Formats: sequence, structure tokens, C-alpha cells
Amino acid sequence: MTRRTKIVATIGPASNDPETLRELIAAGVDVVRLNLSHGEVDEHLAVLERVRTVAEQVGRPVAVLADLPGPKVRCGEFPDGGVDLAVGSLIELVPGDHDSSAERISVDYETLLVDLSVGASVQLGDGAICLQVVEMSDDRAFGRVVTGGRVNGSPGFHLPSESLRLTTPTDEDLVLAEIMADAGVEFIAVSFVRRASDVDKVRAVVGDRAHLVSKIETAASMDHLDSIIAASDAVMVARGDLGIDCPIEDVPHLQKFIIRACVEAGVPVITATQMMESMIVAPTPTRAEVSDVANAVFDGTDAVMLSGETAIGRDPVAVITTIAAVARRAEREASYRQWANRLGRLQREHKVGAVDVGSRITMALSHAASQAAMDCDASAILCCTRTGRTARAMARFRPDSLMIGLSPDPKTVRTMALSWGVEPVEVEMYESTDEMVWFAVETTLQRGLIDHGDTVLVLAGAPTGGRSGSMPRSGPNAATDVLRLVQVD
Ligand code: PEP
Repeated sequence: MTRRTKIVATIGPASNDPETLRELIAAGVDVVRLNLSHGEVDEHLAVLERVRTVAEQVGRPVAVLADLPGPKVRCGEFPDGGVDLAVGSLIELVPGDHDSSAERISVDYETLLVDLSVGASVQLGDGAICLQVVEMSDDRAFGRVVTGGRVNGSPGFHLPSESLRLTTPTDEDLVLAEIMADAGVEFIAVSFVRRASDVDKVRAVVGDRAHLVSKIETAASMDHLDSIIAASDAVMVARGDLGIDCPIEDVPHLQKFIIRACVEAGVPVITATQMMESMIVAPTPTRAEVSDVANAVFDGTDAVMLSGETAIGRDPVAVITTIAAVARRAEREASYRQWANRLGRLQREHKVGAVDVGSRITMALSHAASQAAMDCDASAILCCTRTGRTARAMARFRPDSLMIGLSPDPKTVRTMALSWGVEPVEVEMYESTDEMVWFAVETTLQRGLIDHGDTVLVLAGAPTGGRSGSMPRSGPNAATDVLRLVQVD
């Protein structure tokens, strides 16, 4: 059985050359992430082109995710070599774009003095350094260092998200979203989402050209999680900023909660940040990192994500080989049958997503398929799909059988690379249900994914859409409405 947990890898200076990209894709990268917080847009577009070429050569469908910067607030540059901020020292915080020092931090946030108040905690960089605001005057705030340490460069400056006036998406995000959608990326990630309307604003620009990934990294987003998931095509548990905006000890519990909510809704979910952090400099991960990756697999995540490990790390390919081995090993222990039963029960009780007749039919049939695949020990579930929807509906049940997502649309094929357990395959365009089933079985046979004598299950939306008693192919009533069991001869 192939690995079922997908791998998202951020590309940067350590990995953006064609040879490393080729090795990364051959080693198992399913989704390439372009982090638009760093680098120039032209560089990212060049990497996108390189990924397309290399993926074609390697023969693996790879999706590309462009991650929008969002409203990041930064400190002015600290002197070369950095400075130590000692616990107990009092530091001035001033709005502006000047250099920073150990006595005064310049913050590129116009309304800093409006949004800060005495008692607020602010954090620098990855959150290791924490200051508490103890006094405010007309032109500056004074922060006492609660957790000290060394600061370098222009670290991020984190205000509590509820007091952050900058909205997401920023104007720059919308410009970048248009460029990236136009360039044909499969996914665009929206940073610092606080409510569903933030996602809708990007959707208004992008339309259906790319799937939108909501990054859950603010406390506010947890209050609107269900509506954010409903407005999104995928979700990222962005543990870095989440662990700054929420108490750090909440992070593992929020991760489980978000993953469960996403799987129930059939929305792919990525677990991100510090998964193999020590491999930025070391040849092997820590035992704690290995356990973290395995636990994300047990939680049911669709994908695990690497950031600095593959963007600036010493050996990006070794990171992918290692995380792939950890995920594969964890999958041998993971069983989602209880989960599938619970999901089936929630569906029967109309407690998950039973909003329209099309969704209800899709949910009922995908549940029936997960049961039927078990009952007849199907070697594979072939999901025939033009949009990827049938494959995502099926993946929610985390079935034991191999799942193959077949689509005549190459972009849909690449988009399915993010979904748990789905092996994406391009198939010829079909016109009738019989033709669709035939192509699906033939293609998977030819690829050696199934064998003569196997029993396979075919799940699909009828290609005739709306004719001869089937559900329409698009619109609110579109549904997965074909389930066939086939003995391969
Ligand atoms: C995170 O905060 O965990 C994250 C993935 O976002 P970014 O890398 O953009 O800070």
C-alpha cells in the first residue's frame, strides 16, 4: 500500500534548483509550498514553472500551494549580530520603520499605540521573547521583558489577534492571489483568517481558479471554525502563530479539534510547523519530532507540512525520506474504522454538513461505499471525478482499501494530491457511466494499481448529469450518485 498521509514541502534557497526539486518529488513530496512572505514574486513563478517541468519528468502529480503573507507586523532591523533583551528591562515600543536596538523597538504598524494597552502581551519572532506593556504615552509604549533572549534581523511582532486592526486579506494579498491564480496554482493559502468573510474576499478575486486553504493561526478563528471550514476548500493548522496567539499548551488539543472538524466536513487538513525542525541543522530528527509526526497521522491529518526544514535546511531530501518513513510506519498502527462508524452515525443524525440534497446523497453514497468496500474486501475504490469532490467525500472515511482518484482534468488530478489516501490518476474523458467505469478499471489495471481477479468499487457522479434520472453535475444538487462493484476479469 502506498503512503496515505500527504507531504507538503516549502521551497526555498536550499531546494529551488531543478535537481533538488526532482529528488524531493521522487522522494515523495505531494504538494510544493511557495511561501510568499519571503522572496520576490518572479522567483516564485519561476519555481512554479520548474516544479511543473520536473513533476512531469518524474511522472507524479504534484500540486502547488501559494501561501499569502497576510498582515505580518515586523520590528525594525536590529544591529548586526543581534542584541540581548534581558528579563526585567524596560524597552520603548514606537510605531515607524526605523532600526531597532536593545532600548527601543521600531514597529511597522501605524496604529500600534491605539491597539496596545497596558497589560497587553506582545511577542517577538517565533514567540520565544515576550514583553508586557506597562506604560503608554502619546508617542510610545513601554514594554517590560518577561521572557528574554537574543533577537536578530527584523523579527515578527505579534500583537494579540483581537487587537490587530490590519485586516486579512491585505491589499498585497489580493494582488498576489490574482497573480498566483492566473499562474495556475492549485491552492492559495490565506494567512491569519479570523472569520469566513476573510476567505470570501479572496474567493471574490480567485473564483474557482484555485482552492483556498484557510490558515488557522488566531484565537478568533477558533470561535468561527465551522463557518471558516464551510467557506474553505482546505485548512492548515498553522501551529507556529497559533501557539503565539493561543496558550502554547492548547496547541495539541486545538490540532486534534481542527483535524476532526475538517475530516467530518470532508475538507483536507494540513498539520504545519516544526514537524522536523531540528533537521534544519541536524541529520536526524529528535524523538519528540518523530512522535509528533506519528501523532498527527493518528489524529487523521491529510497532510504534514515542512517549512524551514526543506526551504533552508541542510538536506531537504533527507527530511522528506525521513518524514515519509515515519508517516508510513504510523499508518501501519492507525485504524480509522471507529471514526468511519462515528461519521456514518453523525451523517444519519444529520449532524454533519447535511445542508442540501446533493450533499446528503454524496454523504449517504460515500458511507455506503466505505461499508461495501469493507464487506467485499475491495482491493481499491476508484473515485471518478471531474472536480475531486467524490474523492474528498470518500477520503473522509479513511478506508482501508486503496483509493484512486481518476479525473480527465489535469488540474483536478493535481489538486487530489493533497487528500488523504487518494492516489491521483489522469484518465480519458468519458461520456457515459459505462465508459467511465471501463476507463477507470482499464487505466488502473494498466498502471498496475489493481490486478485481474480483484474486486473494485467504483464511485462517481454520473457523467450524464441530470439526464436519465441522475443528479446534475454542477450546482447545489450535484452529487456522487453512482456506486458499482466490479469483478476485474
Ligand atoms: C505557522 O504559523 O505555523 C505557519 C505555517 O505560517 P507562516 O509559516 O506563514 O508563519
